[in-house]
Amino acid sequence: MVRRRRFDENYPTLDSYRRYNPVGKGVKSSHYGYQTEAGKQLRIEKGLVGFSLLDYAFRDASYTADHTFDGSRSRMDSGFYSWSPLGFTHKPDAVSRWEESQEHASRVVTKAAKFYGAVSVGFCELDRRWIYSHTRDGKVFVFEDVEEGYVTEEKAVIPDSHKWIVAMTVPMDLEETMYTPTAMVPSGGMAYSRMHILAGTVAEFIRGLGWHAIPSGNDMGFNVPIAIQAGLGHAGRMNRMITWERGPLVKICKVFTDMPLAPSPPAPEGILEYCGVCKKCVKHCPSGSISEGPMTFDGPPGGNPGVYRWYCDEGKCRQYWDDVGTSCTICFRVCAFSKPPGALHETVKWFIRNVPQLNRFWAWTDDLLGYGRMKDPREYWEEP
Ligand code: SF4
Ligand code: SF4
Repeated sequence: MVRRRRFDENYPTLDSYRRYNPVGKGVKSSHYGYQTEAGKQLRIEKGLVGFSLLDYAFRDASYTADHTFDGSRSRMDSGFYSWSPLGFTHKPDAVSRWEESQEHASRVVTKAAKFYGAVSVGFCELDRRWIYSHTRDGKVFVFEDVEEGYVTEEKAVIPDSHKWIVAMTVPMDLEETMYTPTAMVPSGGMAYSRMHILAGTVAEFIRGLGWHAIPSGNDMGFNVPIAIQAGLGHAGRMNRMITWERGPLVKICKVFTDMPLAPSPPAPEGILEYCGVCKKCVKHCPSGSISEGPMTFDGPPGGNPGVYRWYCDEGKCRQYWDDVGTSCTICFRVCAFSKPPGALHETVKWFIRNVPQLNRFWAWTDDLLGYGRMKDPREYWEEP
């Protein structure tokens, strides 16, 4: 019998919880930080292992589809994330829109999204708690009784009718995560690029059926609770979603739509219990950002308090990125759920789901067997 709990059973929310305002949040890169040309030049000239021109070029190119349209990442209502139809799948006006049962629509969208590049697909009803209060450039998010979403100088309007969300994951590659913390980390950039293509293409597919759709990356709200409500995973200790299929090695994108879709069941339980005893990410995090304690309603400054979960000190984390000169992701590399597919690992996951009494033993063997150890970036191009 697979154990599943409703979202609010695992992650209750306090009445005092307020929708997050991202304006002015985030750490600015210092002069030699991880986002500057000066930092790049300095590290190349110093000859640091994993910071060669080749490493940088490999990583930077992975962001191409992410940055193509306006040079900034995850920009709302732009490029593939356009709120307006791109016009590739226009439904003839005289033809009725495609209407099927919610279950059938969910099956069809799942199949199409997997073809377009999704690793996993789930559905949930829109929960307004997770939509930011404002866009990153300060427009207020509001919900109105209109047919199509639109953005003005003052506000971004999500139609009341866009009640359903298609939540999707794209892969971050395991092998290309093993060289962090260096500039040889193209897996995040490639996943961001895949998100654009996937969300934009699924939105265009839904529009072609005669419905409305708003595609989104990291721009409109918290993806982790949305994806958990859509049954794709759980909120792990490192404060990222952990999936049964790929651990934290996914990124999440989504499409809001007025096409009725059947909600997905919650992901099987077991991940929270495992994170309770594992703490491998805590041990390896160089900035001490990941909590060793129990789940709580209250996180470090800058976190969005009021949801029962593990918090990560994003300020300390980003400061380390700036110091080391790259987006770290050591926690992704060492996570006990970051494993290649295979019968052995599937067997261990079965035990984690069904016999949590063995969790400490699995956590101990994971360390003992050396999973998640950093690889030498110089060897990457030598391997076939
Ligand atoms: S990305 Fe690095 S610094 Fe940030 S929480 Fe993960 S391990 Fe720690
Ligand atoms: S490393 Fe362990 S404790 Fe941390 S998120 Fe992964 S499974 Fe959970």
